[in-house]
Amino acid sequence: MNFSIQVTTETIVDLRFIPPMIIILFGGIPSTFISVILIIAGRFEFGITTSAIAAMILMIILGTGFILINRLFKKNHPERSSYNQSLVMIIFSNIVFSVIISFLVKDTEILMRLIPSYWVISIIGGLTSVFFVEYILKTQYLLMKYEKESTTDFLTGLNNVRQFDTIWNELMNQAMDKKERLSLFIIDIDHFKYVNDTYGHPIGDKILVELGKILKSTTRSFDVVSRNGGEEFSVILPDCPHPQALDIAERVRQTVELHPFPVSSKERINITISIGVATYPETVGDPNQMVDSADECLYEAKRAGRNRVCGNYGGK
Ligand code: GH3
Ligand code: MG
Ligand code: MG
Repeated sequence: MNFSIQVTTETIVDLRFIPPMIIILFGGIPSTFISVILIIAGRFEFGITTSAIAAMILMIILGTGFILINRLFKKNHPERSSYNQSLVMIIFSNIVFSVIISFLVKDTEILMRLIPSYWVISIIGGLTSVFFVEYILKTQYLLMKYEKESTTDFLTGLNNVRQFDTIWNELMNQAMDKKERLSLFIIDIDHFKYVNDTYGHPIGDKILVELGKILKSTTRSFDVVSRNGGEEFSVILPDCPHPQALDIAERVRQTVELHPFPVSSKERINITISIGVATYPETVGDPNQMVDSADECLYEAKRAGRNRVCGNYGGK
């Protein structure tokens, strides 16, 4: 309103229909209502005049009209194109504006210049605003989507290996600072190639998804479960001493062993996993050696016959 066009001493013209239009398009009814009230109150800051009252009536009609147009579009065009809808809103707003301004301004010469230019400017301004808001929302949506995709494993929804690395470094630094113990599981499915070869890759994928869920549900809520690649998973257990880590790993192993994994509508199979467990600083003093140590324990478990948990207490 501060930068509006002064038409007469009392009457000012601007594009104040744009905020409520944008808000109904991208927000909701309550926020549209608030914006209309704020705009009406803002206009009275410039003095309580006939024009301010007319502006109030204009805003009430526009707010109500926008809400109705929005409802109509939602009902008839659920896929709703913001451009069509905003064009209808702009034309509606322009008609109401033209009628009200014709009552306020008696000078026909001013009206003849004002109304056509207002129509052109409001259509360009309105559509441009919708374009920018839509553009910003779309980039925001894509940013969030890619941010999520870059940290999440597409199959299981667990952290991917990149996110594992980030969290691992964070939690390792935290453990060193606070002198806490930090445990790590590296988990690998036993003879998974056989499962794939027998039941097919898609069934193998389903098993990976289900195993991810079991790992989430059998570990503590603040443990960090990731799929580090292929059929290899990991769990980071903050503030967890080695004996407790071994207990949790054993619980995970047993749950998987007893869980029936569906491979068809009728058939269920059992799979087993091997888990290598390392704990800082109990079993590994050098934080950089933790992953390698858990890996070594995993291979130890495989060598010892699979379907088992292997830690290395005392650096065995
Ligand atoms: P081991 O007990 O020694 O771990 O035997 P294994 O058969 O599990 O080990 P190996 O490394 O020989 O094979 C791993 C298999 O995991 C090979 C591959 O077919 C399968 N695999 C890896 N990634 C995926 C995946 O994303 N989906 C499916 N379905 N299978 C996968
Ligand atoms: Mg493997
Ligand atoms: Mg395997």
